[in-house]
Amino acid sequence: MKKYFALLLAGVMALSLAACGGSSSAPAAPAETQKEETAAEAPAEETPAAEEAAADIKTVEAGKLHMATNAAFPPYEMISDNGGFEGIDVEIATLIAQKLGLELVVDDMEFGSVITSVQGGKSDIAMAGLTVTEERKQNVDFTESYATGVQVIIVPEGSDIQTVDDLANNKMIGVQDGTTGYIYCSSPVEDGGYGEDHVTSYPNGAMAIEALKGGKVDAVVIDNEPAKAFVQANAGLKILDTEYIVENYAIGISKDNNGLRDAVNNALKELIADGSVKLIVDKYINAEN
Ligand code: GLN
Repeated sequence: MKKYFALLLAGVMALSLAACGGSSSAPAAPAETQKEETAAEAPAEETPAAEEAAADIKTVEAGKLHMATNAAFPPYEMISDNGGFEGIDVEIATLIAQKLGLELVVDDMEFGSVITSVQGGKSDIAMAGLTVTEERKQNVDFTESYATGVQVIIVPEGSDIQTVDDLANNKMIGVQDGTTGYIYCSSPVEDGGYGEDHVTSYPNGAMAIEALKGGKVDAVVIDNEPAKAFVQANAGLKILDTEYIVENYAIGISKDNNGLRDAVNNALKELIADGSVKLIVDKYINAEN
């Protein structure tokens, strides 16, 4: 039975959906009242509230939009061949910054630091394939969701782990620090997890995969799209064919900066509505499949 894992995921999804509902109920105000080149795309009725929101934008560094991320999470964020940053999140954030008249700066860090970086006023947005959870909502506000992910299990080909339940057979599971995968797997057995003792966490997915290849862990639990990328890049690994529940990815923003939150959320909503987000996602994901 997959029920424990599935139940946990279902719980998180319900919370995520609730969270999304909350954040997306903000008034649909145009974000770019100050931006000449995007004026044509702005909704017709520009309310005073919207103007206020746009005038209110404060960022960590004037003229810049700092994005906290972990650039080891393909295809959402990774380091490109020329040493820059690329990926779905990076491209969406670039368009958001453009709409706000700002220049995007990518602050690359461990995943476990992206929310605290925003909370501590070091970065403006946390965009890192970041799943909306109720607990994270205590620390940051979330925008509308722009993508979905599911937690999957990677094992070496020939592994005796064939189902979610097999993870409970005294296995060691590799995860990334601070991720939902870590939260599900490390929770106590009575709560549907496998317990802290059965989980080893790594600063990023690539290191968890190295540990799997080196036999230090028996499986890696990680989001599906990075999982596909890692399996493609590393012979001898496979993703278990199991059904999971969908999580929502959104952008985390300081609870003390409503102006920025509304502006980023509105810019994102426009990019979803005009198909820009879909084009970017298709470029990195759907085209490969
Ligand atoms: N979606 C997962 C989470 O939010 C993993 C994100 C990541 O590792 N970049 O916890």
